Amino acid sequence: MFLRIDRLQIELPPPAQQDPNGAAALQELLGGKYGEMSTLGNYMFQSFNFRSKSKLRPFYELVASITAEEIGHVELVSNGVAMLNNGPETAIDETDGGDITDAPFDAMKDIRLAASFLSNGGGAAPVNSNGHSWNNDFVTTTGNVVLDLLHNFHLECGARLHKLRVYETVSDPLSREICGYLLVRGSVHAHSYALALKKITGVAIEQMLPVPNINLDKIPESQKYLAEGSHRRLYTFSPSDYTGIAGVWSADEQALPGDPPGALEVVEGAPEGGKIHELAGVPSAFSPDYAPEEMFEIAARLYQASR
Ligand code: MN
Ligand code: MN
Repeated sequence: MFLRIDRLQIELPPPAQQDPNGAAALQELLGGKYGEMSTLGNYMFQSFNFRSKSKLRPFYELVASITAEEIGHVELVSNGVAMLNNGPETAIDETDGGDITDAPFDAMKDIRLAASFLSNGGGAAPVNSNGHSWNNDFVTTTGNVVLDLLHNFHLECGARLHKLRVYETVSDPLSREICGYLLVRGSVHAHSYALALKKITGVAIEQMLPVPNINLDKIPESQKYLAEGSHRRLYTFSPSDYTGIAGVWSADEQALPGDPPGALEVVEGAPEGGKIHELAGVPSAFSPDYAPEEMFEIAARLYQASR
């Protein structure tokens, strides 16, 4: 089963400006073929379907624990999309939506993913940068351990390619922070699947890395995560389970040659992470509603009663 922590995996900077088309670019990292929905779906179903779990503990636990990290990546990118659609945070708390007859959202009909406003109210959805639905055809779960791990290695390298390309299209500090962090974590995952394949087959697949062939020292937004050793860490994302991932992500293995040196390390639990930014309501867009005061009052009463 899954536990949930009401935090993001990192602290996100607020966006410099409202940028719906930048949010659309980020959607590729969420619902694209190599996006976070795909890594989540692949590892989740592979871990559910895994045969001989007790005899293949380190490999099963690797796929299972990374599943939990990936749903946190889905959450992180989704928050980024909504924050970019929203723009800088405001303290304005409108009590009702006012006059809506003068096309207050005229500009929204011209954004690339108009449905992100019209249908989702500025929130994220499991679609790619063109609005095409993420779908289950992006999930590979063959039941064959080597084939699944090889697919996962390919998937992480594909995800790295897409993150690099999205990074090249965005200038907002928020989008760049998300790319910089996910590039580091994606490298950890590619490295971990390469090591898993090496332990089973003897083939040193990690020597192919990085794919694409560019080191993270070229990405300014990745530097603080490299400096703190994130590229050497794999988390169990569990209070007490999945410590067997140390069989693959083992302390006698080293960081990749292009990254800051050091031994690999398993961390029990989850990263400390950062706060979830609160987005103010937009009554004129009926989010959370046109006149939400009564709902706020009811919620305040219920919350008080729960204390
Ligand atoms: Mn991911
Ligand atoms: Mn990953």
